[in-house]
Amino acid sequence: MRDAFLVFGQPLIEQAEIDEVVDSLNKAWIGTGPKVHQFEKDFAAYKGVPYAAAVNSCTAALHLACLTLEFAPGDEVITTAMTFCASVNSIIHAGGTPVLADVNPHTLNIDPAAIEARITPRTRAIMVVHYAGRSCDMDPIMDLAARHGLTVIEDCAHAIETEYKGRTAGTIGHIGCFSFYATKNIVTGEGGMLISSDKAAMDRCKIMALHGMSADAWARFSDAGYKHYQVVDHGFKYNMMDIQAALGLHQLPRIDRYWNHRAAIWQRYMQAFADLGIGLPAPVEENTVHAYHLYTIRVNRECCGVERDQMLEALRARNIGVGVHYLAIPEHPYYQKRFGWRPEETPHATAYGRETISLPLSAKLSERDVDDVIEAVREICGACPAARTGATA
Ligand SMILES: *Cc1c(COP(=O)(O)O)cnc(C)c1O
Repeated sequence: MRDAFLVFGQPLIEQAEIDEVVDSLNKAWIGTGPKVHQFEKDFAAYKGVPYAAAVNSCTAALHLACLTLEFAPGDEVITTAMTFCASVNSIIHAGGTPVLADVNPHTLNIDPAAIEARITPRTRAIMVVHYAGRSCDMDPIMDLAARHGLTVIEDCAHAIETEYKGRTAGTIGHIGCFSFYATKNIVTGEGGMLISSDKAAMDRCKIMALHGMSADAWARFSDAGYKHYQVVDHGFKYNMMDIQAALGLHQLPRIDRYWNHRAAIWQRYMQAFADLGIGLPAPVEENTVHAYHLYTIRVNRECCGVERDQMLEALRARNIGVGVHYLAIPEHPYYQKRFGWRPEETPHATAYGRETISLPLSAKLSERDVDDVIEAVREICGACPAARTGATA
């Protein structure tokens, strides 16, 4: 068994980031400044879009994206039951009413047929989440959106590198939102980004990300001369700092290197667990690129002799840090109380959320770390006869 605890999702921070942060500190330009603007330019170039707006989290990006829709009370946004609470909360904060659709049980992505069944005259938008980095099936979703006049917001928190039929995630719908949280594929500590080809929407997001101050306010302390700002709405404080962008500037150029490393780990897990009874991720769909953000297994007593929570504990006891992505949204008491949601209304997401475990999958993992994860999982499953015969779920 390994000596040191393997922290789940620990990012790889290299010397260039450390030097760049120190440079910000030395120059004492620590707020929003040249590094944030450069990071926006670099990210826009990476995505091949004209505009990108850096913010302090993907949650903020999702909130701003929803705000561009200027919801009237009762306006609905359809989203997935298999996501982080931030997706749903951002809809609520913008004054919308979230409506949940179930997932496809193999891809864990929102099911276009379930979306269609939830569309009402009040539906304004669809918020998709490319779960684990696997692209949603965007063609039928964009068709639905076009037919019903809906905006599509892509929660790309897992999906910086994701592609669907030659198009990159965040550019297929109307607005894309990205996360650089500490566990995500590239990191700025906390941080997020918005992209859209809709200039008016991007301008609106930028204004609302900084107190609702007029666009010029972003440059008001530069040497171009003092500019008075005007408050044009009651906005938020969502801007990214140069200290954060200092990390992103050096993480972004390594995105392919990190992706290759995670892809190799993914393949090793696939081979190492092929003879166990546990559920493994579905093959990657043709004509798509998976971002390999989460490697999730599915565990229950029938397939490997232990319940999910027992396996979480057994892995922790072997010094392997793991995650759960996610308990389905209707499992949480707040949403049950406020919207009357019940877990059985989205049965695929609920069943999955009760059986899933995310194994370590980050750029920082060494061969040895991966060996340790594999050994621990095999040991725990090996204790069970069903696993040895390879019985499937
Ligand atoms: C991480 C995550 C978010 C929130 O990102 P932050 O940058 O932490 O705000 C939103 N949606 C999904 C699916 C996520 O995984």
